[in-house]
Amino acid sequence: MKYILVTGGVISGVGKGVIASSIGAILKCCGIEVTAIKIDPYLNIDAGTFSPYEHGEVYVLDDGGEVDLDLGNYERFLNVTLHRENNITTGKIYQQVIDRERHGDFMGKTVQVVPHITDAIQEWVERVAEKPVSDTGKTPEVCIIELGGTVSDIESVAFLEAFRQFQYRIKRENFCVTHVSPVLQPKTTGDHKTKPTQASIQELRRLGLNPDIIICRSEKPIRNSTKQKISNFCNVASAQVICVPDLESIYEVPVHMEKYGIAKYLIERLELGIFPLLPIEKYMKPWIDLGKIMTQPKYETTVAIVGKYTKLEDAYTSILKALTHAGNEVGCRVNVKFIDSSNLEQHMRLMEPAMYHNAWYNLSISDCVVVPGGFGIRGVSGKIDACKWCRESKTPFLGICLGFQVAVIEFGRNVLGLTEANSTELCKTSNHPVIIEMSEHNNGQMGGTMRLGRRLTVFKDSTEGSKIRRLYGDKRNIYERYRHRFEVNPDYVEEYEKNGMYFVGVDSDQKRMEIFELEDHPYYIGVQYHPEYLSRPMNPSPPFVGLLSAAENRLESYLSQECKVLSAEQLDSDEEYLDTKQTSSTNHCEDSSSAYSSSSLS
Ligand code: GLN
Repeated sequence: MKYILVTGGVISGVGKGVIASSIGAILKCCGIEVTAIKIDPYLNIDAGTFSPYEHGEVYVLDDGGEVDLDLGNYERFLNVTLHRENNITTGKIYQQVIDRERHGDFMGKTVQVVPHITDAIQEWVERVAEKPVSDTGKTPEVCIIELGGTVSDIESVAFLEAFRQFQYRIKRENFCVTHVSPVLQPKTTGDHKTKPTQASIQELRRLGLNPDIIICRSEKPIRNSTKQKISNFCNVASAQVICVPDLESIYEVPVHMEKYGIAKYLIERLELGIFPLLPIEKYMKPWIDLGKIMTQPKYETTVAIVGKYTKLEDAYTSILKALTHAGNEVGCRVNVKFIDSSNLEQHMRLMEPAMYHNAWYNLSISDCVVVPGGFGIRGVSGKIDACKWCRESKTPFLGICLGFQVAVIEFGRNVLGLTEANSTELCKTSNHPVIIEMSEHNNGQMGGTMRLGRRLTVFKDSTEGSKIRRLYGDKRNIYERYRHRFEVNPDYVEEYEKNGMYFVGVDSDQKRMEIFELEDHPYYIGVQYHPEYLSRPMNPSPPFVGLLSAAENRLESYLSQECKVLSAEQLDSDEEYLDTKQTSSTNHCEDSSSAYSSSSLS
């Protein structure tokens, strides 16, 4: 096993995760099996109890692990399925060591950070690195380890010490270090300043680790003389000082980095025993093609995300990525408008009229709408109003998890006339609890107790004509990832279906409602699961593809091509896109003929 440790300097949030994932993506293109471990040096056991405001979204894995959103980057870039143990936190390590101490495993010794915590870190890394993560089932050959935060953080010390010991134990040819540091360009001087980067590398070396590659993150490309300076001061050849300026899309980073010969360097340095003899155009082709598709959009589509965590984009990272992937598939650039659902609520009309009208204006000019997942009552009535607006104005709509549940509530109130329809999460005493708690998922504890992870959803008999089923390639069984505690109350299902909201997808016991689809609407779909977690740049998520193609009034034509993914070459020659773009209007109703009769779905 070969290890590439990726550390950060100066400040966090400069894209260390994307750099680390890109290194992995490059190696994968050379035919190497790659896995990844993300270390978060905080004390939480996992990300399950995090507020999206503080850390961005909680990412969910197949095994139900609630982990840091960076694991999503690795899954997307490497097209792998990680395990909850691929996310290490200080909390997990300490919990393991303390449990062993209580069990008497240390035979009366004093339990200390060195060697007990540092040993536990090394054991964990070596054990998890071996776990297969791709469809091939092969044991990985390279493990990328990203250490969160910066090397000068007090929380990182035990981890850096563990890797200092580790490098000697596993030998030089099996371990290397990449250090990612911003190179700032203060407005007052105009020049790129290297001092903070130099200081962070000095700190890394003081802790006993020498960088093999230095990645300089900057807004604009840095000059060769600046690179030379970093190389001189930091003991790294200038060829291994690589500048990654801000690029239009994160998916351009692997190709950009590989132009500096990262694969060749790592293959030699880590004695990987292969050589990418092919020219870069060949082995990096999937990423070069992706870049081409991304830079040649034929449409521009505005998507409103109506949620409550709209002040922090990271809270909806996977949804934004899923929209980009789906946009590549249907040839459109996605413009996202974040709408704080609280601003859509009636009481805001008098309290904050400008915010209220602005929110409604943005919603009404959007081509389609996503109501994402969430927890708690704040902003829910605004989400319900947004669902009503989409349903009535025939605007393409995708409700995810809580978004699915609020669309069910809205339909209950305004179509079935159940004026008190509600979720027991939001109102415990409702006369019409159309959304209820799954009692087996409430043991009174908060962390890790929801219905979590990859589960089977089955399309019901006679749903062949359903749009969402066709988007999934007309498969009978699909797998998606879940994270929820509440579900549709089965007592109301018959009444909903009689009135046109069909629960086309259910769980394997046919008891839980997992997908609804509305008849007589271009695209009004709700999913209890989170399709965004399984979206990949080269394998976009069907509900998002459906949303964007419906927004462009092209859903039927997309489906009749049997959901083919467009290649870069096809895009170059696809005149149909331009023709459709010119003739398409904002009228979403053209596509609205119901693909099935009500009796066939009920
Ligand atoms: N709060 C809802 C539930 O627990 C929805 C959760 C979500 O959107 N992830 O069921």
